[in-house]
Amino acid sequence: MSVTQASRTADRLRPFGTTIFAEMTRLAQQHGAINLAQGFPDFDGPAYIKDAAVRAILDGHNQYSRMFGVPEIAAAIADWWCSQTNQPIDPATQLAVTAGCTEALAAAFLGLLDPGDEVVLFEPYYDCYRAGVTMGGGVPKFVTLRPAAQIDEPHRSPAGPGAFAFDLRQLEAAFTPRTRLVILNTPHNPTGKAFSRAELELVARLCAKHDAVVVTDEVYERLTFTPELPHVRIATLPGMAERTLTLSSLGKTFSLTGWKIGWAVGSPPLIAALRSAHQFLTFCAATPLQHGAAEALANTAARDLYIADLVSQLSRERSFLSTALSELGFTVYPPDGTYFIMADHSRFGFPDDVAFCRHLTAEVGVAAIPPSVFYSNPADGARLARFAFCKQHTTMQQAVERLARLK
Ligand code: PMP
Ligand code: GLN
Repeated sequence: MSVTQASRTADRLRPFGTTIFAEMTRLAQQHGAINLAQGFPDFDGPAYIKDAAVRAILDGHNQYSRMFGVPEIAAAIADWWCSQTNQPIDPATQLAVTAGCTEALAAAFLGLLDPGDEVVLFEPYYDCYRAGVTMGGGVPKFVTLRPAAQIDEPHRSPAGPGAFAFDLRQLEAAFTPRTRLVILNTPHNPTGKAFSRAELELVARLCAKHDAVVVTDEVYERLTFTPELPHVRIATLPGMAERTLTLSSLGKTFSLTGWKIGWAVGSPPLIAALRSAHQFLTFCAATPLQHGAAEALANTAARDLYIADLVSQLSRERSFLSTALSELGFTVYPPDGTYFIMADHSRFGFPDDVAFCRHLTAEVGVAAIPPSVFYSNPADGARLARFAFCKQHTTMQQAVERLARLK
């Protein structure tokens, strides 16, 4: 192979290849499949937010912003946080606005980790966590989420009914004297699990014991469907505010995934660590979109109306898709939150999830995500497929009609 054809990708990134989200969207486009793979709505975000961003552009908010965010969005995030947690924060030292939650995650890992630090990571994991930990020199230690029925009672984590759970022994064993960080994601992509308060208390106890920090990704914080499992922020548990960085973003809550406006809230030393990386990654997020995002959060009447409508729409599509998949013969794990459903495809006789999702995309005309890429041992995900339901009802109907070809 000539020098120009040889891979120039760094050793630590080469194993990650191309993210499954780009792969599956490309495959969906190639085959004209309905894209229930990559999670983004096929409807637009609300006009009141888009109008605010357009106004910001026309009013000349088009230069770099303050490194940690324009004052308007900083104030709006502080209010949003305080109204939900009763924890007032000082925007000057306790938050940062980033280019999506993705940048906040990378900045957290790069800002907090030293080479060899261990990171407790629940799997299946959103793919950028493992890549980001690796970029930061950290070493992941896995804790596997499984359908609750697959874990023996005395060792099963205190999950809600029907939810995914983990083995308490595996959680304990994942912590060592080298543990620096725990990555949480609740509601969880791809399983849809909302961690129960009792589960979060267990994680908090181990973090205190090992002096570990939690980075919690809560981008689906408002997209929950199970009243028994409301969203619980680990930062609100006793003693955890000091050791938690809570990350979120605009994309899911307001159906504006392309805006890439995210944020981090936490104690001053943790935010200082994150900002130390953020300043050299992007310095600041897109200024006019920060103004739009400020309006998204600060216009409480329009905000609450929009979120309530979105949650009832998603909740209808969740039921519609769960029922359809069950009728087709999938074993369905209905999510507590997010806009994804995990379903067991084994009854259709494919060797694994990759073969199944390829067939589904190319021959049936519906794309789904093969989740084995989100596990340290791909075999753990081989029976599953992840379907997104953040789509208009007509799209979901069409997808279900096509899925009937599986019969
Ligand atoms: N975290 C999770 C769990 C996600 O599913 C996503 C997907 N969009 C992100 C983070 C990325 O968020 P953003 O688009 O704000 O970077
Ligand atoms: N979060 C989205 C999903 O899980 C994808 C985001 C991305 O494409 N990176 O499908």
